[in-house]
Amino acid sequence: MHEMSITQSMVEICEVHATGRKVVEVVLEIGELSGVVPESVEFCFEACTKGTLLEGAKLSIERVSGRGSCPDCHGEFPMLSLFAPCPDCGAFGLTVVSGEELRVKELELE
Ligand SMILES: [Zn+2]
Repeated sequence: MHEMSITQSMVEICEVHATGRKVVEVVLEIGELSGVVPESVEFCFEACTKGTLLEGAKLSIERVSGRGSCPDCHGEFPMLSLFAPCPDCGAFGLTVVSGEELRVKELELE
């Protein structure tokens, strides 16, 4: 599963930053266009954190909505898919402004 390896590397990054301290809470930012399913990350989190500094930590996931800007009409729109055309003028090739995020936003240590 795709999310399993993502969660695994996320846990590894957190462990490096925790520098031996126990992690109480992890806040993750997942963009709607990142292709990552938050429910799957939640599901993998428990298995991936077993025996690590993150075991028993609370996982909070913040969704970042997709936004794109149009190269033709220079408008900015909510973007539901990476390959969607501009809802205003129909041009393809929108530039992603936000929504591809996949990062550890906060890490609360004991
Ligand atoms: Zn446009």
